[in-house]
Amino acid sequence: MRPKNIVILTGAGISAESGIQTFRDKGGLWEKYRLEDVATPQAFRKNPAFVLDFYNKRKKDLLKVEPNAAHFALARLEKEYPGKVLLVTQNVDDLHERAGSKNLIHMHGELLKVRCEHCGAIFREEGDIFVDNPCPSCGKSGGLRPHVVWFGETPLFLEKIYSALNECDLFVAIGTSGTVYPAAGFVVVARKAGAYCVELNLEPSAMADYFHEHHYGPATKIVPTFVEKLLQTKISFDTEKSP
Ligand code: NAD
Repeated sequence: MRPKNIVILTGAGISAESGIQTFRDKGGLWEKYRLEDVATPQAFRKNPAFVLDFYNKRKKDLLKVEPNAAHFALARLEKEYPGKVLLVTQNVDDLHERAGSKNLIHMHGELLKVRCEHCGAIFREEGDIFVDNPCPSCGKSGGLRPHVVWFGETPLFLEKIYSALNECDLFVAIGTSGTVYPAAGFVVVARKAGAYCVELNLEPSAMADYFHEHHYGPATKIVPTFVEKLLQTKISFDTEKSP
């Protein structure tokens, strides 16, 4: 039977072949920076200029790269699938929307957006931001920060996500290590709700045992293949099958 409600969770692995490093890349970005120095509210309070500089550089990197075949395949699925497809991404890049996805939740925020801590305004800003920039909405300086969820902060839209997980009959996790919560636990919620769960990743994630089905390989290969099969209903959804 064709699933009616699909929820797809994506992580850094789906953008890796576009040239955005994951946390796990050897010799990559996250070996040069410590998470605690750039991705926590404490780091921002201690050294806002350093944190803003880090995100200004990430924005420049993002504007140089393009969506890949995996992003495009998911946009095609949303457009052509005769049921609901919700994409929940942990990624702060905008590659899903550039590929054409519309029903998309950025649970960890968006790199190309800035938020004012004084008035709460959120706006798109592709250029650099600095500590003394005034907010275009309230005019106060010193409150602008990247609109990204840092470690220790609560992810966005959780109510909407859990409600979709509880209603879905197919849950797919793509390019995520299954180590950052609450996203890592989504498979448990979806499975409890009766969904068939599929993992697409380069290697087994920390949550691999919770999935009914697994496909391992680069996202640009395995995601388009999976989407094609899904559109042709060539996948059997046996939730009784032990993983
Ligand atoms: P992660 O770095 O912990 O894990 C990435 C996963 O992707 C790994 O399991 C790895 O095996 C897999 N992977 C690597 N290359 C792949 C490929 N070509 N095809 C398929 N899979 C591949 O990332 P995560 O699970 O998303 O969680 C960590 C946090 O990283 C998230 O909060 C996210 O916001 C943040 N992050 C985001 C970006 C981005 O926006 N593009 C980049 C780096 C980190």
